[in-house]
Amino acid sequence: MDRQQEYVLRTVEERNVRFIRLWFTDVQGQLKSVAIAPAELEGAFSEGIGFDGSAMEGFARVYESDMVLRPDPSTFQLLPWRGEVESTARMFCDVHTTDGAPAAGDPRNVLKRAMDKAGEMGFTFYIHPEIEFYLFKSSQLEGGEPIPVDHAGYFDHVPGGTANDFRRAAVNMLESMGISVEFSHHEAGPGQNEIDLRYADALTMADNVMTFKAVIKEVALAQGVYASFMPKPLAQHAGSGMHTHMSLFEGENNAFFEAGAQYQLSKTARHFIAGVLRHTPELAAVTNQFVNSYKRIWSGYEAPSYVCWGHNNRSALIRVPQYNSGKSSSSRIEYRAIDSAANPYLAYSVLLQAGLAGIEQEMELPLGAEDDVASLTRAERKILGIGSMPTSLHHALEIMESSDLVAEALGEQVFDFFLRNKHQEWDDYRSHVTPFELQMHFGTL
Ligand code: GLU
Ligand code: MG
Ligand code: MG
Repeated sequence: MDRQQEYVLRTVEERNVRFIRLWFTDVQGQLKSVAIAPAELEGAFSEGIGFDGSAMEGFARVYESDMVLRPDPSTFQLLPWRGEVESTARMFCDVHTTDGAPAAGDPRNVLKRAMDKAGEMGFTFYIHPEIEFYLFKSSQLEGGEPIPVDHAGYFDHVPGGTANDFRRAAVNMLESMGISVEFSHHEAGPGQNEIDLRYADALTMADNVMTFKAVIKEVALAQGVYASFMPKPLAQHAGSGMHTHMSLFEGENNAFFEAGAQYQLSKTARHFIAGVLRHTPELAAVTNQFVNSYKRIWSGYEAPSYVCWGHNNRSALIRVPQYNSGKSSSSRIEYRAIDSAANPYLAYSVLLQAGLAGIEQEMELPLGAEDDVASLTRAERKILGIGSMPTSLHHALEIMESSDLVAEALGEQVFDFFLRNKHQEWDDYRSHVTPFELQMHFGTL
């Protein structure tokens, strides 16, 4: 038993923890949880806890269904919403097969592979996400649109509003679980909020994003409202993006920073951006995984529809922020396409692998966009070499299907499952007769 495992056992005893939840994530980004009693903990560390992988989305084929959860003791935390008395804790788990190998269908394992590759090249991948979500009065639709909790807008201070209390409770809870919050504010849409987490390595951050979503849902429940990470819940208002700031560190040094270079961007950063831009259409189905994701991408409200980068340009897919702090450690790039419903493990994996491919192949960075790219004509964008995001989930899947990079990044099993599962979603969607069609045609055709 190692020191971290001993620490967990001791804490469980000292804090009188009654249940330990073992958390892991399926391919679609759904959090899974199984609770064990403290008496099972030692066995969980030494042998793992078995479960039926074939019952989980994407984990295993039926004929090799037994899977094993191996809790990661470094992720042990008490769950504040379960209270102090007879408390509940959680640990994230790695999923293994019965012969001890990491399971191919485990998104955490997919990200670990990408991080190992970065490690071989001398890099650690850091992430800081800005997570947007909506607060609605209820999860019940009652035949209409969801009803937001307020009518406020960007950065609005809402006196006595639900959103203030909500953000305060959520931020306190996140901090008590060791997740540092940098900013929180009301976003542009009614009832829309944003919380930005302090940067961490990508694996820690993917775990943090999963925890974040659980916390937000719990706080909403406690306050009698409903929180949604759906990319575009309201047609007439902004969607919920999860802008992702990325950087690579070589030891203590930010490998994206070069004093005196244009925008202080090192060669490594330029190649990384070029790689991500090149592969963006292929990996879009992962960062924007639902039919609904493309409603956000193609409706304005500062969601990026075109594949380009720019310095401080909020219409660009990749924004290089202004470094007024002058701190080299804060050099980073902001990827704006990804939405709040993405599976963070898989999304960070494909983004990292695309960036690393850019570095390996020394890809040339095209010119940055200086205008509002959405206001350019098609012809102007063509001249500037600015491509488009996929127009729908179906389009994104068609592009992804022939991507060697995404196949390699996800591994064959996740890649195949993902495509099958998402094609099914598209087929289900396209068989619907929508209110739009009825409105357009019913009275006239
Ligand atoms: N909500 C916008 C989006 O869908 C982003 C707004 C912002 O710049 O924060 O990406
Ligand atoms: Mg925002
Ligand atoms: Mg942003």
